[in-house]
Amino acid sequence: MDEAKDGVYDVAVIGGGVVGCAVLRELSRYDLRLLLLERQSDLAEGVSKGNSGVIHAGFNVPSGSLKARANVEGLGLMYPLAAALGVPHRMTGKLVVALSDEGRPRLEELLAEGRRSGVPGLEIVDEAAIRRLEPLARGRWALYSARTGIVSPYELVFALAESAWRNGAEVALEAPVEAVAVEGGTFRLATPRGKFAARRVVNSAGLFADEVARLAGSADFRVYPYRGEYLITDKDGGFRLGMPVYPVPPRDDPGLGIHLTPTMEGHILLGPSAEPVAAKDDLASTREVAERLKAEAGRLVPGLERAPFIHAYTGLRPKLVPPASGGLFADFVVAESGRLPGWIDLAGIESPGLTAAPAIARMVADLIGTGMALRPKTDFEPGLPERRRFADLGDAERARLVAADADWGEMVCRCEHVPRAEVAAALRNPFGARSLDAVKRRTRCGMGRCQGGFCTPRLVDILEEEGLPPDRVTKRGGGSRLFYGRLKD
Ligand SMILES: Cc1cc2nc3c(=O)[nH]c(=O)nc-3n(C[C@H](O)[C@H](O)[C@H](O)COP(=O)(O)OP(=O)(O)OC[C@H]3O[C@@H](n4cnc5c(N)ncnc54)[C@H](O)[C@@H]3O)c2cc1C
Repeated sequence: MDEAKDGVYDVAVIGGGVVGCAVLRELSRYDLRLLLLERQSDLAEGVSKGNSGVIHAGFNVPSGSLKARANVEGLGLMYPLAAALGVPHRMTGKLVVALSDEGRPRLEELLAEGRRSGVPGLEIVDEAAIRRLEPLARGRWALYSARTGIVSPYELVFALAESAWRNGAEVALEAPVEAVAVEGGTFRLATPRGKFAARRVVNSAGLFADEVARLAGSADFRVYPYRGEYLITDKDGGFRLGMPVYPVPPRDDPGLGIHLTPTMEGHILLGPSAEPVAAKDDLASTREVAERLKAEAGRLVPGLERAPFIHAYTGLRPKLVPPASGGLFADFVVAESGRLPGWIDLAGIESPGLTAAPAIARMVADLIGTGMALRPKTDFEPGLPERRRFADLGDAERARLVAADADWGEMVCRCEHVPRAEVAAALRNPFGARSLDAVKRRTRCGMGRCQGGFCTPRLVDILEEEGLPPDRVTKRGGGSRLFYGRLKD
C-alpha cells in the first residue's frame, strides 16, 4: 500500500489492541475510509493479551473519574457486544473477600464508591453466602458483584477487528508508525510498509502512546510500565472456580491485589503482581513472584497453592503515574490534542481498559464527529458469522463434519481438541497473521497441558504445506524464528 495509490483515509488508528480495534469497529458504522496500523505481526500482541479478562463492574475506580464512567458504560455495552461477535464470555459474578471483620469497612467503602458511580448489582454478603456463591472460596465478609464477568481478551480483539474489516476498514500489520508530519490539515504517517495519509488520527498505542504522541508533538505525557505476573492452573487439576475471587484491595497496591480468575476454558489465573519495571518489553516471569502468587491464592482458596500449574505469563500496565508516586491513580486520557486539531490521544488505558474499550470507542467517535460529518451506513453488519469450536460440539455434529471433510478428523492439538480444519481457518484470517502465536490465540492450539509439545511440529508442517517454509516460521513475528537451518536434507 502506498499513499499515492491509496489516497487519504478519513481516520487512521495507531495500535491494534482492544481499544484501537474497538475504535475501528465503532467508526466502521459510518461512511468513512478507515485504516488501522499495528507494529506487530498480529493484533492483540500488546497489553491486550496479558490481562485477567475480567469484565469489571466499576466499583474499584473513583466515582466521577473518566475511568469510572467508561467502565460502567463499557459494562453495559460489553455483554451484548461479545454476544453479537460470538466472543466467549460469561456473566459470572465476583467476590471481593475480607478474611476477617477488619476488612469489612473497606468493603463498605467499595460498595459506596460503586453506588456513586451507578454500578448495578452490588451487595455485602456473609460467610454462608460466600460458600453458596463460590464453594471454593473462604472469607468472613465479601462484596458480591452480580454483573462482573469474564471474556476471552484476545478473541475479543480479533472479533472487533474482523467486524470492522467486514464493514470496510483496512488493517496493516508490521506497520509501526515511525514518523508523523502534518501538511495542510492532513497527517502523514511513515511506516516501513509505506506512507499513509489521514485527516484524523487516533493514537491508541498502549504502552507506546507517549512515544507516538512525541512523534506527532501532540502531548507530553509519559507512560510507565508496571509488570503483572500470572500463573495458570491445569484445568484438569481438580479446582473449578465459578467466579473471580479478589482480596480486599490493599491501599498501597498499584493493582487490585492478587486475585483468582476463572478462564472461559476452566483454568484459573493467579495474579497479577504489580511492580514498576524499567523497560516496556520486560515480560519476565520470576520464581519469587510465582511463589507469592501461590501463597496469596491459598489464602483465598485453601489448597490452590498445590494445584498443578501449566504456564506463567506477564502483562504490563501502561500507567501515567511514576513509580516514585506509588503508581496509584491517574485517570484515562481520551482527548483531542490542543496543539494538533484532529489528533486524538488515548493514554493511560490500564485496567479497566478492556471493559471500557467499547465506551472509549464511542467517546472517540463523538470527538471525531465534532469536526467531521459521520453518516451512518445503511448496510453496517453488527455481527460475525457463527463459529463453534470442534471441542464444544457433540458427537453427531463432529461425525458430520469429519464425513464432509477429513481435515476435521485430523487432530492437531490433543489437549484442546483442535483439528486441522480450525488451524487452516486461523491461517486464512483476513489480516494475514501467520505466527505460531497467531494460530494459538485463534484456535487454542498449544494452550493445553502439553503447552505445544505435541502440536508444534504438526503446526510447522501445516504452515509449510500452506506455503511458509520452516525457516520463516516465527513464534510471534519479528526475529522470533523457530529454526535457523536444516541439520540434514
Ligand atoms: C496485568 C493486567 C491485568 C489487566 N486486567 C484487566 C481486566 O481484568 N479487565 C479489564 O477491563 N482490563 C484489564 N487490564 C487492562 C487492559 O488489558 C488494557 O486496558 C487494554 O488491554 C489496553 O488496550 P490498548 O489497546 O490500549 O493497548 P494495547 O493492547 O497495548 O495495544 C496497543 C497496540 O499499539 C501497538 N503499537 C505501539 N506502538 C505502535 C506504533 N508506533 N505503530 C503502530 N502500532 C503501535 C502495540 O504493538 C499494541 O498492539 C489489565 C491490564 C494488565 C496489564
